[in-house]
Amino acid sequence: MTSTTAARAATGAKGLAIQGAEPALPPSEGDERLFHWPIVTAEDEQAVLDVMRAGTMSGTSITKQFEAEYATWQGSRHALCTCNGTAGLTAAMWACGVGVGDEIICPTITYWASASPALMLGATVNFADIDAKTLCIDPNDIEHRIGPRTRAIVVVNYAGHPADYDRIMPLARKHGLKVIEDNSHAQGSMYKGKMCGSLGDIAAASLMAGKAFPIGEGGIITTDDPKLYERCVAFGHYERTGVASNYNPVDQQVHDEGLLRFKGLPMGAAKHRLNQMCAAMGRVQLKSYPARIVEIQKAINRFWDLLDGVPGLRPHRIDEPNSSMGGWYFARGLYTPEELGGLSAERFCEAVRAEGVKDCAPVLNRLLHTHAYFHEADVFGHGKPTAVAFGQRDVRQGPGTLPVAEQMAGRVVDVPWFKHDDAARIEQYAAAYRKVAEHAHELLEADKAAQGAAG
Ligand SMILES: *Cc1c(COP(=O)(O)O)cnc(C)c1O
Repeated sequence: MTSTTAARAATGAKGLAIQGAEPALPPSEGDERLFHWPIVTAEDEQAVLDVMRAGTMSGTSITKQFEAEYATWQGSRHALCTCNGTAGLTAAMWACGVGVGDEIICPTITYWASASPALMLGATVNFADIDAKTLCIDPNDIEHRIGPRTRAIVVVNYAGHPADYDRIMPLARKHGLKVIEDNSHAQGSMYKGKMCGSLGDIAAASLMAGKAFPIGEGGIITTDDPKLYERCVAFGHYERTGVASNYNPVDQQVHDEGLLRFKGLPMGAAKHRLNQMCAAMGRVQLKSYPARIVEIQKAINRFWDLLDGVPGLRPHRIDEPNSSMGGWYFARGLYTPEELGGLSAERFCEAVRAEGVKDCAPVLNRLLHTHAYFHEADVFGHGKPTAVAFGQRDVRQGPGTLPVAEQMAGRVVDVPWFKHDDAARIEQYAAAYRKVAEHAHELLEADKAAQGAAG
């Protein structure tokens, strides 16, 4: 008997598909709709066509309308669109005074654009560890990193999960630091009654097609602080510096007179204007977004409630009143191999895929603190790494320095990013994950037996 047929005999039809049993999840054509994103309707298409036909792709009239509507929805005073999220983060850092020789603090597990713009501004990054439950910056790993040149803390609301603002904001205030939210994953996420993107001093978010709030390619900066808003305008929106906009309707309201001297040229040598086809799509998307994310939350909460008490797998979601995971971008599960006899996340996901779940894998952004870019790259030709070219101290950190983040790769797995609350189908998905967790020990034993036979 081969080990596969032995395993099949041992586990029967209720065993794992990876061992030859029936998969938990039969294929379904409905999955196309269940996961499709972005949701584009005839109204989105018409809005884009209107811009094309009017020839106003490079104007700002529609973009300013979108900015006003987005700011109102999020509960922020000012919004400024950018050509992508990376540009928004760069402008936000510059607006906060991040410059040559300065430092920012940023979690090591995030997309690179949360951190890299600091190097472009001549600053460096002191990477902090993450919290194993929120996957956001660990508030306990911030204060000891603050030095005389620290200017800002970049806080990422990771995979839709709000960071711990009740701990982070007082720390920042105590040390006179700005808090920059990278809200690229968390448009619409609530933290104790306030929306992410309105919690720090300034926020920048990607509005790229694959993200929770999709407009094609684009970004948006939000802030309550008119000075930070104006500095972002000055950095990459030269044509809007000091001119009438929704927020400084007359020139007299410009708060930073110094910037007006350079009116007409961008301080950042950057052109961050959003094209208006994307802005037009943004306006249409915004009308449906609140309802769409309520449905996503219902669906993913349903999935997690079905897995309540299943060993090895916990939801990555916020457990506070008046809080939510927004559009639940990048939905993740927290995997605990110890509860499953040490079954690796790799092997767990392989078994889940065999049950019929397409893209299940252990996934997380790469660690930035050990990446060569932040250790060796000489961006400006100084003959030394940019990370240490300007600063008074070397804040680079090698392997072994951020222990939680470094062991997280085997502890975070994909879960389905449902867009609709299809109860029957979600039950089948949950059954696939539950089945693997409940049969994990059989899989481990079969793997050990196969290894023994091979060795
Ligand atoms: C996508 C993303 C960005 C960058 O946004 P772009 O629009 O792709 O430039 C920045 N930070 C995080 C966390 C992201 O996921």
